[in-house]
Amino acid sequence: MPTSPEVFVPNAMDVFKTLAWVIAGVLFISSLRGLASQETARRGNGYGIVGMVLAIVAMLVAGSDHEISTLSFLIGALAIGATVGVVMAQRVAMTAMPEMVAVLHSFVGLAAVLVGYAAYLEPGHAGIDPAERVEIWLDVLIGAITFTGSIVAFLKLRGSVSGKPLLLPGRHLANLLMFTASLGMVVPFATMAGTEALPFLLGMTVLACILGLHLVAAIGGADMPVVVSMLNSYSGWTAAAAGFMLNNNLLIITGALVGSSGAILSTIMCRAMNRSIWSVIFGGFGADVPAGGGNGAKVEGDMTETTIDELTEELRNAKEVIIVPGFGMAAARAQHAVRQLVDILRKRGVNTRFAIHPVAGRLPGHMNVLLAEASVPYDIVMEMDEINGDFPNTDVVFVVGANDIVNPAAQTDNTSPIYGMPVLEVWKAKRVVVLKRSRGAGYAGVDNPLFVSPTTRMLFKDAKAGMEELVAKLMA
Ligand code: NDP
Repeated sequence: MPTSPEVFVPNAMDVFKTLAWVIAGVLFISSLRGLASQETARRGNGYGIVGMVLAIVAMLVAGSDHEISTLSFLIGALAIGATVGVVMAQRVAMTAMPEMVAVLHSFVGLAAVLVGYAAYLEPGHAGIDPAERVEIWLDVLIGAITFTGSIVAFLKLRGSVSGKPLLLPGRHLANLLMFTASLGMVVPFATMAGTEALPFLLGMTVLACILGLHLVAAIGGADMPVVVSMLNSYSGWTAAAAGFMLNNNLLIITGALVGSSGAILSTIMCRAMNRSIWSVIFGGFGADVPAGGGNGAKVEGDMTETTIDELTEELRNAKEVIIVPGFGMAAARAQHAVRQLVDILRKRGVNTRFAIHPVAGRLPGHMNVLLAEASVPYDIVMEMDEINGDFPNTDVVFVVGANDIVNPAAQTDNTSPIYGMPVLEVWKAKRVVVLKRSRGAGYAGVDNPLFVSPTTRMLFKDAKAGMEELVAKLMA
């Protein structure tokens, strides 16, 4: 009797899981899209949260391709991870956000390394065919680089280790040798039977850890934002490699999204800072010692101080005002007082706008987030490229706790470590008032000739206290 052809009938759990994966993937893409602008960022975050919850639930309900034998253990781990995440997110100051992001990337890197080892050592499991072994190799390689690189980035951002680039002689050759040796070991690893090639995996992990340390140590503190964004990209690629290794499509999609969005953000930031993306990837970014030694020229001249009374008068007489917020506004939490100042000036008919530098503060979009928190209207918050041409027609530029992003030496002093970084050309305005606490330098640790320019006045105060005093005076 002829047998009928076998019909593939998917089981209900598989259908549910596949559907959940697709929906979660769409939600993650919508999340990234939402995060592209301030108006939709909150919604974007919401999509991401729903997508992640759906992915976890689908994983728990439908299981992965590998048995979930210890569901209670998994739920316990999730609960601990979620609690740590919530506590960290609630406690972290906005100014310490890059540090937290760096720590989180190190977790992703470490997790990838551990999952890679688990897959290799699990008897009769993924470490069987050569292609799967190459996936494990890639996962552990990128994971280990991300892990140690992120720890160094965290320590540099925190100030626990020096922000100065570590410029060992022959560092590029050393990186190349370590990378080549790591790649070379993949051949015995992929072809040796069982777990015999474990020493090669261990050797490569050690090399990759050193490579991660060395790549980031060679980068100066002022360039850390790009490094953090690049590590974000690495953590995405390592997750994608883990997805291939575990046959988990959603992990591949999510990893690819994080990997490519991190790479795009890094490229945008590099463009904004006039740097080369390749030197970030291969280390030593920003470390090329400029002609004069790399510390920048010493600024000669006297700073002229001003008072709240004088500034009040100047603002009352102004028609065009631009406010340039920087790290000091964030540190002092002065954004609400700044918003009050803007309200007063706008009510008086003064055209008041904000000029936002792409790396103002300590994380991309830092100023935008703070101004949004203080309910500053989006339409008066201008990006650097939109507003840089308007400074010559501006009566008063009020620099609130910013320094490096308004430093003209970035254009004129090729011995400066920030030479080549595009800056806000505030010195072209009729009057510049800089609100900061002291004569101290900014993040890059260089002198700022703006402060001794004849049209600049210094207001030495804490940003919040100074701003509140100014608001009170203007309202009187
Ligand atoms: P800077 O760090 O260059 O300058 C900030 C200034 O704020 C300081 O000179 C400080 O002077 C002043 N300040 C600090 N606290 C207060 C306060 N309470 N009240 C008033 N003023 C205060 O900041 P910018 O925003 O100008 O530039 C950002 C720098 O950070 C760039 O070098 C950038 O590369 C780097 N960076 C950026 C990241 C990002 O993604 N945005 C991440 C990491 C680094 P004083 O002590 O005298 O008050």
